[in-house]
Amino acid sequence: MKQERKEQIKNKVLGLLTEQSITYLPIDLDQIMASLSIKAVAVSLVRQRGVVVPEGIDGFTVIRGGDRAQYLLVYRDDISFERLRWTLAHELGHILLGHLRSGRRAAGHGRQEEEANYFAKELLMPLPVLARLDARSAAAISRICGVSREAAQIRARDFERYDWYRLKHGDTETDQRFLACFMPMYCQEAKRGGTGGAACC
Ligand SMILES: [Zn+2]
Repeated sequence: MKQERKEQIKNKVLGLLTEQSITYLPIDLDQIMASLSIKAVAVSLVRQRGVVVPEGIDGFTVIRGGDRAQYLLVYRDDISFERLRWTLAHELGHILLGHLRSGRRAAGHGRQEEEANYFAKELLMPLPVLARLDARSAAAISRICGVSREAAQIRARDFERYDWYRLKHGDTETDQRFLACFMPMYCQEAKRGGTGGAACC
């Protein structure tokens, strides 16, 4: 994925955080979904009603047309809470990045999956905030962000590039905006005697 597109997706995430006044991790996905009127339903319930749903996918979103599009998110309910959170964030990515309206979902499928995963990662595990909280291990990321250990391990690898870039260039404007969003969180951590937030308040 091109750097320009990554920045666009980060901006989408930042817009959402600001709109929803979200200042703490773990991200409150219920709040976001309720405020965007996105309904979520367990796949077992859908199957009970006789709808045939293919096996092997953690979630998908159905769009109902009309003047105001309505989204119904169907999720697998036999997966862990953390994996479910990833699934919801990923589907939210598809919705907010306009994938469901493009009409080119099949053609752009691979790229759109990559973009939805990138959205989920930036939403659930904002790297500058984790750095400020000194949450760099998979265990810490998993606990603070409410994600699986596997997702946290993948995120932890991003620190190498992040630290290298930051050492040379400092915080990017986007990083600063992420930090500003979550300032109440790391200020509170600093007051509790944690590390990393001492200079903020
Ligand atoms: Zn997807």
